[in-house]
Amino acid sequence: MTYVVTENCINCKFQDCVTVCPVDCFYEGENFLVIHPDECIDCGVCEPECPADAIRADTEPGLETWLAINAKYAARWPVITEIGTVPADAQDWNGRPGKAAFLITGEAPAEPQARKPVYPSGDEAPAAQREGYEVDGAMVAFPEAGADTAPVELLPRDSEEDDGFEVDGLRVTP
Ligand code: SF4
Ligand code: SF4
Repeated sequence: MTYVVTENCINCKFQDCVTVCPVDCFYEGENFLVIHPDECIDCGVCEPECPADAIRADTEPGLETWLAINAKYAARWPVITEIGTVPADAQDWNGRPGKAAFLITGEAPAEPQARKPVYPSGDEAPAAQREGYEVDGAMVAFPEAGADTAPVELLPRDSEEDDGFEVDGLRVTP
């Protein structure tokens, strides 16, 4: 068993989790943290510390993809043990569905459409920015929040040459 950082960390990256981990097994990407599954001792103290409720035990169903992402990038990204800069718009991203499209892995230049758009606070955001994001020239709407929200389809690629994701049927190369 291990704990896993999941989608809602993307672009929030509050980093409260790193201050409590007794074995320093968090690793830092540009807009996401991961847990090294072989270093995590399953103590669970990080889970309630996350303001974005992004940390889960891998015994929960449906976390296979996020576990694979945690394992893959924990082996590539640097360890993080102290809180650095929290994104100024972290709360604007907290709870926003569809954030998998914005995961930046650093393995390839981010496509312009995969980069994080800037969301002004609250009602200042243009309607188009509040409702979705652009991928490969197509507009992908953020799923409606609620119980019947369809999960974002996120498929990590195995090969180094073909690294990327499918999000809602559209290809995203971070
Ligand atoms: S506290 Fe949660 S949102 Fe913040 S960096 Fe850790 S996992 Fe990500
Ligand atoms: S469960 Fe414990 S060891 Fe594992 S990442 Fe969280 S704080 Fe670190």
